[in-house]
Amino acid sequence: MAAVYAAPSLARPRAPRAFRKSGARVSVRAVRVTATADAAKYDTVIIGAGVSGLSTAFTLKKDCPAHTMLVTEARDRVGGNITTRSENGYIWEEGPNSYQPGDPILTLACDAGMKDDILLADPNSDRFVLWDGELRALPKDIPTAVLGTFLTWPGKIRAGLGAIGIRPPAPDKEESVKEFVSRNLGVEAFERLIEPFCSGVYAGDPALLSSVAATGRVQRLEPLGGSLVVGALKAQKEAADLKKIRGPRDPRLPAVLGQTVGSFRGGLKTFPEGLAKSLGSDIVKTEWKVKKVSKNEDDTFTLTYDTPEGETVVVATTVVMTAPAYVAAAACEEMAPEAARALNKFYYPPVASVTVSYPETAFRLDGASALPTGGLTGFGQLHPRSQGIRTLGTIYSSSLFKDDNRQPEGEFMILNYIGGARDVDIVNLSEEELVQAVHEDALKTILKPGTPLPKTVGVRVWEKAIPQFNLGHLDVLAEAKAALKDSGCDGLLLGGNYTAGVALGRCVEFGVEQAKELEAYVAGKAAAVAAETPAR
Ligand SMILES: Cc1cc2nc3c(=O)[nH]c(=O)nc-3n(C[C@H](O)[C@H](O)[C@H](O)COP(=O)(O)OP(=O)(O)OC[C@H]3O[C@@H](n4cnc5c(N)ncnc54)[C@H](O)[C@@H]3O)c2cc1C
Repeated sequence: MAAVYAAPSLARPRAPRAFRKSGARVSVRAVRVTATADAAKYDTVIIGAGVSGLSTAFTLKKDCPAHTMLVTEARDRVGGNITTRSENGYIWEEGPNSYQPGDPILTLACDAGMKDDILLADPNSDRFVLWDGELRALPKDIPTAVLGTFLTWPGKIRAGLGAIGIRPPAPDKEESVKEFVSRNLGVEAFERLIEPFCSGVYAGDPALLSSVAATGRVQRLEPLGGSLVVGALKAQKEAADLKKIRGPRDPRLPAVLGQTVGSFRGGLKTFPEGLAKSLGSDIVKTEWKVKKVSKNEDDTFTLTYDTPEGETVVVATTVVMTAPAYVAAAACEEMAPEAARALNKFYYPPVASVTVSYPETAFRLDGASALPTGGLTGFGQLHPRSQGIRTLGTIYSSSLFKDDNRQPEGEFMILNYIGGARDVDIVNLSEEELVQAVHEDALKTILKPGTPLPKTVGVRVWEKAIPQFNLGHLDVLAEAKAALKDSGCDGLLLGGNYTAGVALGRCVEFGVEQAKELEAYVAGKAAAVAAETPAR
């Protein structure tokens, strides 16, 4: 679903420690750590083979083939949260369902030979938000926003005035998403437009989500231009200038029209599997669960793993942690306890994904439905918490990428997300109870009265689903990074969705950026070694 995500900036890479220490400089070659002397050594070890880790690895291999690396993954498969399943004629997603097709993710897909697998949904499809018993299509442009019924006239006037800067000034504190949007666009626009997106994207609580961390690209418009409208115009100009510097768009990339979303033929897992395949099994190691990362005297790191071959130890000049924050915390606990303490502060609420299938005839497509006549042809629907529906949102899986034949003929499959920061009790529900809950909600909006329980395609409960970019998020992240630095861990980078932003596209973009940072760090390290090696 369309949304914007935080883009915390990367710290500039610092010179390697060997450069910074005066006097007692440690020669990288001179130091030998007995415990790891026989261990395999790599320029970089990446922990986690989700989209973040794989994007970093793929970019490193492409830009810097001599860079030696491993990508280590605890599970027996790559993809992390991306979990496409297929069985009995169904293809369904247990984690993310689609991505915003920005150029970085499309470029990686093309580079890894997946150009023909890219799927883009119909940009004219509607996204619906439930309000007062009606599923209302989100306005696609300014005229529909002004003339349509999504907001009342007072709501539209308040949003319009706020957008041009007639609204209370920004307070001298970090605002929540709720505070920021209500102040700028009014309470109605917040309740009808933004609140359901906070549920749909973060499964979060907008009164706790930080506007700067969770919606950074929108939040910055106000300081940039003095109002959202002027800020947006300035941001557009910045983007156009950047485009001029970057030159023409890669002609291999498909045209992205309107507010579409993307997937891949056969489901999202095609993407991480394609990246892993082009990296090769010498680089990507599954069932390698990191237990501990420790720092060596020569500024390298020793990583200890549980693997199918037993305990395995490797040494790396740089480490990228893309596993969830609580995993990174446990692995760094001994080496950098303060960093671990900060990393443990990030909160991941539970979410369940419940995919069910109904006969096509079960849906109210006759105008008597909450949906407009014509029915289930959109992306899906979101349910503001005030509307008495427990399900956070429902994706019309059968309509979204309909050419990918993801369900048997005559059926219509929907994916429901339920739970999140404001409904953590879903972890206590059985699979049957979860199906019952989403079915009851669907009866209230899109199903004909009396429709029997659906066929259950797949239920997955994510006990720790999506990191919350709550108030103070960026400070805690900075705290963790500073504590790592204080522990002498300059070569250990934090990555993954709690640093980059939770959207798949943003994870890829950040992974690509991080590859550049690693290249710079390792090149600096090599230069340090060369400088310390006496000329012959
Ligand atoms: C239910 C759900 C729905 C979502 N819907 C969408 C959506 O529609 N669109 C969207 O853009 N985003 C969505 N997201 C968010 C998106 O999926 C994630 O932000 C993104 O996949 C994170 O990728 P990552 O590589 O940073 O982390 P992860 O995918 O979490 O990858 C981290 C990897 O680290 C591994 N790991 C863990 N412990 C260890 C260890 N000890 N040793 C080695 N490896 C370890 C894990 O197994 C995992 O593979 C959704 C997320 C969830 C949970």
